[in-house]
Amino acid sequence: MAAKKVIFVVADGMADRPIPKLDRRTPLEAAKTPNLDQLAKDGISGAMNTVDVGVRPGSDTAHLALFGYDPNVYYTGRGPFEAAAVGFDLKEGDIAWRGNMGTVDENLVITDRRAGRISDTTPFADEMNGTVIDGIEFILSPGSGYRIPLIMRGKGLSDQVSDVDTHVANVKVHEPEPLDSSEEAEFTAKVLKKFLQRSHEVFKGMEINTKRAKEGKPQANYLLIRGAGFRPELPNFKDKYNLDAACIAGAGMYKGIARLLGMDVFDIPGATGKPDSNLLAKVDKLKESYNDYDFFFFHVKGADPLSHDEDYEGKVKFLEKFDEVVGELRQFKEAVIVVTADHSTPCTLGEHSADDVPVTIYSPEVRDDDVEHFNERECAKGRLGHIRGMNLMPIVIDLMGLASMFGA
Ligand code: ZN
Ligand code: ZN
Repeated sequence: MAAKKVIFVVADGMADRPIPKLDRRTPLEAAKTPNLDQLAKDGISGAMNTVDVGVRPGSDTAHLALFGYDPNVYYTGRGPFEAAAVGFDLKEGDIAWRGNMGTVDENLVITDRRAGRISDTTPFADEMNGTVIDGIEFILSPGSGYRIPLIMRGKGLSDQVSDVDTHVANVKVHEPEPLDSSEEAEFTAKVLKKFLQRSHEVFKGMEINTKRAKEGKPQANYLLIRGAGFRPELPNFKDKYNLDAACIAGAGMYKGIARLLGMDVFDIPGATGKPDSNLLAKVDKLKESYNDYDFFFFHVKGADPLSHDEDYEGKVKFLEKFDEVVGELRQFKEAVIVVTADHSTPCTLGEHSADDVPVTIYSPEVRDDDVEHFNERECAKGRLGHIRGMNLMPIVIDLMGLASMFGA
């Protein structure tokens, strides 16, 4: 155990842009957040581009950078991260894909990329899971809603195969094509093509689709996959920092990333990864396990989906709920407490943007600054200045007294 502990809080998509209906304030500026403000007063603050200046981060690449894993080196595509999110134990040589259940017509033209936002893909995953074609096993597991990640397992696979999902409707599904001239890519595309044809035939004949037809719902008859990737070779967090780490999160992807890094991952009842999540249950989990770990990755998802829905009022309310959590965490006066976001998700955009995010680091020893409010505008005036996500862990490690000296 290290002498000091770290509570590393990421509020997904928390940062925003000025919103006309909030008098050009951001939701963080509009929300009442006395605890976040106190943390900023006691801590050191700055503005941070998690991946890089001008880069719109995904949550996965941003989190890699926040943990000190350069996404340009370690990111192998979203497929493996979503597969890890649903609890797949990826093995070396596996190819993972992101997938949706989609709807195609008789000419294989996509009429709905999400099969009417079908809410459960379990029957489809169950039907095809474990299929073996030409020595390759196809492993399927239901993701959330219409999502259904796919794993190909066997010898001689390549991730250099094109997407099947066209990303837009009203065009024909793409046939998987090799993206390089290797035997492996050609083989992977060929065996995948067979699997997609077979699964399409099976899906068409499923009772659930007969029922959906009667109800006037789109058929869930095609597996639209994209983003092939190998399992990333990520150095274990414990080996990298010599810290015992635990993940306190509700949403699947963050648990998946934490698992890939070798953190212990808790399942917390009521932590849904949605705005309705029971955030105080997560605090209870942290309190309960506080003596067992050095590093707590504490993830809160709610602000991001609200921002994608352009619900700035909901976001203000959620940030006030999040502030109560920070109030609880501030009780750990001896810990290093980091609060930041993985990226901005402006409600005016409904998407992630490349804007920097506020960051505050509290520790009893920190050389504090004059920042008195935790938000985009005020934190940018702080002593940390403007940093990159990759800078964050080295600062934390130094504040823990664990950094090794460069030079003599
Ligand atoms: Zn995110
Ligand atoms: Zn998002």
